Order: sequence, then C-alpha cells, then structure tokens
Amino acid sequence: MKTRKLVMIPGPTPVVRSIQDQMGRETVAFGDPNFIRDYKELINDMKTLWKTEGEVFVIAGTGTLSMEMGIANTLKAGDNLLIVSHGFFGDRFIELANRKGINVDVIQSEWGEIVPLDEIESKLKEKNYQAVTVTHVDTSTGVAAPVKEIGELVRKFEDTLYIVDGVCATAGEPEYIDEMNIDILITGSQKAFGVTPGLCILWAGPRALKRREKLGTIPEYYVDFNKWLPIMEDPSKYFATPAVNLIWALKESVNIIKEEGIENRYARHIKNARAMQAALESLGFTLLADKDHRAVTLSNVLYMDGVDDVEFRKVLGEEGVVVAGGLAAYAGKMFRLGHMGNIDIHDMVSTIAAIERALYRVGIEAELGKGVGTLMRELLK
Ligand SMILES: *Cc1c(COP(=O)(O)O)cnc(C)c1O
Repeated sequence: MKTRKLVMIPGPTPVVRSIQDQMGRETVAFGDPNFIRDYKELINDMKTLWKTEGEVFVIAGTGTLSMEMGIANTLKAGDNLLIVSHGFFGDRFIELANRKGINVDVIQSEWGEIVPLDEIESKLKEKNYQAVTVTHVDTSTGVAAPVKEIGELVRKFEDTLYIVDGVCATAGEPEYIDEMNIDILITGSQKAFGVTPGLCILWAGPRALKRREKLGTIPEYYVDFNKWLPIMEDPSKYFATPAVNLIWALKESVNIIKEEGIENRYARHIKNARAMQAALESLGFTLLADKDHRAVTLSNVLYMDGVDDVEFRKVLGEEGVVVAGGLAAYAGKMFRLGHMGNIDIHDMVSTIAAIERALYRVGIEAELGKGVGTLMRELLK
C-alpha cells in the first residue's frame, strides 16, 4: 500500500479539508451578490487582523507578484532602495529593482545570521533612501528578521518607506502593520495561510498610499494600486477577473484564524516550532539559523556527516514526508522543513517519526522514538 504523503515544504503547506472544499465549490459569476459580500468581508477582516488604517489588495498571482507590486507602487527609476538581505529571497529584490532602474544598495548577512541593526542605521544615514526592503523570514535560511526593531529605526527617516516581505511569515509570525511602522507588507496564499498557491496579497499603509499618489502614472498596469483600489472598496466593480474560488479559500483560512484567535495562532507557531526544532536537534541535526533569530514557520536543517541529501529526501518521501532541499551554497547540505499554517499534532508527530525512519534507513544510528519523545515532551509543556 502507498503511504500518504505529507507536504512539509515551506509552501505550499498542507491545505485542510474545509479550505479544499472552498476550492471545490461551483464557481459563480464575479458579480454574484454573495461572492461580492464574501470578498468585501475578507478585505475588511484582513485590515482588522493585521491592524492597518491603510488598504489591502488580494489579487490573483503569487508572492513574487506581490514583491513586484510593492516596488512598482512606491518607487520609480532613479530612486534609492536599501535592500537588507538575509538570503535568497532578500536577494530577489535586487534583480526586481534593477530592472526598474532603481539605484540599489545591499547589505547582506552571512546565511543563518541577521544584519545588525546598527549597520542598517548607519547605512540609512549615508543617503536619502526612498525605501528599504526586509524579508521577515528568509525561506532559504530559516532566519526571522527583527521586523519591529527595524521598523522603529526606519521610522526616524522621513522619506524612507518600510517594505516587508512576509511571504513565509504572515499568519505565522506576528505582524502588526501600523504599530510596527510597516508601510508595505506583501505575502502569498500558500504559506502560513495554508491555502493553495495563487493569491498575491499586499497591505499598504497610509504613507505608502500617499507615495503612490505622488508617483502619478506608473509603467506597470496589472499591479497598479489605482486600478485595484476601486475594486477593494467595492468588489462589484471590475478591473480583472477575481480568482473566485481562491478568494473563498482565503476567506475560510481567515475564518480559521479568527476562530483560533490570531494571538493564539502566533503562540501556537512558537510552541510548535520550538518543539520541532528541539526534536530535530535531539536526532543529531543542527539548524542553520542562529538560535536568537529562528523562524517559527520553517526550519533549515543541516545534515550530520554521512547523509546524502538526494538519498535521504527520496527515502523520506517513501516514508511519507516531502521536504525541500537547500538553496545556493546549501544545496545538498541541508533540507528545509515547513511547520506553519494549519498543521496539527498528527502532522508533526508523523513528520518527526518519518524523519527517524529515514535516518535509520540511510544508516544513521539514532535511537528510534528519540525525536518523537522530545517533540511530545515539548508540546505537552
Ligand atoms: C516563497 C517566497 C517568495 C516567493 O513567493 P512565490 O509565491 O513563490 O512567488 C518570496 N519571498 C519569500 C520570503 C518566500 O518564502
């Protein structure tokens, strides 16, 4: 018999039945009054839960499109952008901004570490930056940036907008837009929201909306705030066809969040992450991310000596768990394990147990049950 496969990569994450059901609903016209009501409710909930006086945009696309949307509506050719990069996805902003003719300065950390706050501050003092980008959780390293502290710093610079990539963080790591001085928060549907891939989500705070006004006509069409603002205010209007079933799916995800309580959800993510990380370490793995800056949404797990990445992930797949490989210099040296969104204790225990079986099968001596024991002890605390 085939073993059911748990998809424990950092996105897409497991999609629970009630969300799948929304995807399976009969698609209605985008002018359907019930759909319009659902869309509007979703928009309102998103603004309330992430605490902004600004706007939210929920349109068809992916996280990368939301990155592009954030840049397109706040910066023009010739502007200065400071990119604080903690890895592969931080670096993605470089090419994106370069293509638009934006002047880019980059501060990169070693993978697994963060850029120190004082380094960001002294860079911001050097010249007038129109924006700074920070990746909340860089999926390539499993590092979580101190988003709140950076926000306090950036706020001292009047012309500088604060753009946060929350694609692997939002709905798992705490984010309060106005309180944290975030001007643009971007994300996608398939990570900590636990929805299938396909939605580009972006919040724009009041300062970002003002910046958009100042830019006048921008070169981009589909991602222009001004095209979508009338629709987000009144979804009965048309600009481009909304992804009807995905909107419903995200609405169900937000209902799950409201039912759990967003603060409880954040607390659950911390508890789960620390338990998963303790379990992995008890099996002899090491984690790439600095202990003080570990994400709660995923873990980037370095192999012990004697494990071949391709073989391990193949055997782990046979044991019923899919994980992702390492990126760039860490390809072959590490696997990436997502533990965000709507996963439960069954998913976590099964994942650690499958990792133990895979280790055993590739010839690593580890006491069976050790990781599962650690995990359960941590979760029962
Ligand atoms: C996944 C991810 C992206 C890219 O999102 P897509 O939906 O794959 O386009 C961007 N930034 C971060 C931090 C990510 O984890």
